[in-house]
Amino acid sequence: MGGPAPEDTSAEPPTPEHTECSELSWSPVRGESPTEPVPWTVAMKRAIRCGRRLRKLLQLPPDPAADAAESFPTFVPLELLERIRPGDPNDPILRQVLPSADELRQRPGYTSDPVGDLQSDAGGGILHKYHGRALIVTNGACAVHCRYCFRREFPYSEKAAQGDRWSTALDYVRSDRTIEEVLLSGGDPLTLTDRVLADLVSKLEGVEHVRRLRVHTRLPIVIPQRITTELVRRLSDSPLRVWFVVHVNHAREIDAAVEQSLGKLIGAGIPVLNQAVLLAGVNDDATQMEALCRKLINVGVQPYYLHHLDQVRGASHFWVAAQRGRAIVESLRERLPGYAVPEYVFEQAGAKSKTPIA
Ligand SMILES: *Cc1c(COP(=O)(O)O)cnc(C)c1O
Ligand code: SF4
Repeated sequence: MGGPAPEDTSAEPPTPEHTECSELSWSPVRGESPTEPVPWTVAMKRAIRCGRRLRKLLQLPPDPAADAAESFPTFVPLELLERIRPGDPNDPILRQVLPSADELRQRPGYTSDPVGDLQSDAGGGILHKYHGRALIVTNGACAVHCRYCFRREFPYSEKAAQGDRWSTALDYVRSDRTIEEVLLSGGDPLTLTDRVLADLVSKLEGVEHVRRLRVHTRLPIVIPQRITTELVRRLSDSPLRVWFVVHVNHAREIDAAVEQSLGKLIGAGIPVLNQAVLLAGVNDDATQMEALCRKLINVGVQPYYLHHLDQVRGASHFWVAAQRGRAIVESLRERLPGYAVPEYVFEQAGAKSKTPIA
């Protein structure tokens, strides 16, 4: 991960040293209880960065074979840990974040760049694949490491836009008048501080043809206190129309604190959409998916996309066949309002949009 020093611009954590894990003695005393609200930057710093420690905290047996999967490091904030059931190796939240020996399996068809991001990189952290909207990879840090992430091998230190303060990305946006919408993604743009984000937003506001700003983030879900009053005010005051796209895969990820943080955005007039990934052992049955979509609309979030798994190296154990995915979406249609049914899509390198799986 590249970019300036953490104290300068972002809450990006230092590189974890899971091979010399000294965190096994964590105890919930000493002001570290997840129920005690701490600033989101502190929540980032105290996150669990070691699979062995995660297992221990959740009363699960060690799994030495999984340690080798931590070339993509563990990263789980305590705020999310709290929603995982201790002692249950099949917990649907745990499965998303716990390193597994399954990740080491080589499978034909699984590559490091399944969605062709490196082909469509226009330089300076800009990915411009679709008409009218350009995506800025603002930074590499996330507030959770999802084991199925299609960007788990993305070369952030070379590609992220942060190093040059987005000047190349902004030049690109300025020079193409067809770009009406700018997406901030990463990594996770909300791991940047409010000050840095405000600076980027101000620069985008200065581009005449940009009308909308879209923020793709998992922060409101994993560290809900990231949705600060200051951030919400800055975004709702913007002349840009702001949309949020969050990422929830299972109903249990939405607890009272998450509902409150989503409510702040929605209350400020910022629409919030959700994208989920169809994942084996997490949400690949109609009952779980129905519970997720119902929970989302009950907190005011509209299900947007259900992504078919991108075949990134290390994620083959999350695979769900399209036929099964289609059947799940069909049953959602029978049980939920039309607006609660996400569009089931996959990403095809070179396509002009996400491709619906009808
Ligand atoms: C997914 C994606 C978008 C957004 O697509 P929508 O269909 O508008 O949500 C934009 N740019 C890139 C590079 C993407 O991968
Ligand atoms: S938050 Fe998003 S970008 Fe970050 S690891 Fe998870 S899926 Fe990947």
